[in-house]
Amino acid sequence: MTPNASSYIDFPWLSSPPPRPAPRETLHSFVSRLAASKGVSTSDFYLDMGVSLRSMAILDEEAVAAVARWAGLNAIEMDELLSRTGVPSGNIRMTFRGQIIGSRALRNPEMRGCRKCLAKDAQRNPDFPLKEMVMRGDWLFRDVTICIEHRTPLEVLWTEHTRAMRFDIGSRLSEIAPNHQ
Ligand SMILES: [Zn+2]
Repeated sequence: MTPNASSYIDFPWLSSPPPRPAPRETLHSFVSRLAASKGVSTSDFYLDMGVSLRSMAILDEEAVAAVARWAGLNAIEMDELLSRTGVPSGNIRMTFRGQIIGSRALRNPEMRGCRKCLAKDAQRNPDFPLKEMVMRGDWLFRDVTICIEHRTPLEVLWTEHTRAMRFDIGSRLSEIAPNHQ
């Protein structure tokens, strides 16, 4: 048995390829899944990349570039993730799906989502649900109140006033995930 084969048995996530962006996924969600695919918490992964939670929360240019580098994302994939996340455009506005809108329509302490969608994601990989659970960008948008797939009301998944902590998606989803990773 080669040393590599042995380490794959000890650390099964090493044998799987990094995740690719999912439809409608936000950048913060993708980073959370990338960290999970490497078997580390989102905050430890930020440390590895040399970026802070705060710089990721405000989508600092260097932080975004670091994610692209670590995940091997091309410009089109990154643009799609950013467009689903909303990018600051001045102090009180954001660009979301090509539209300029008030930041408050996209950013507030209540992070909402559809538990049915998250449960369905988790079923794809029951041993490592955090690699699969996707936060959809439309859930950020205040005017969206219904899951477009399940036609059920979006629920508040967590409330966090500190912006940096609000986007530590992995930590919060780990409380929701089956098996509590
Ligand atoms: Zn749903």
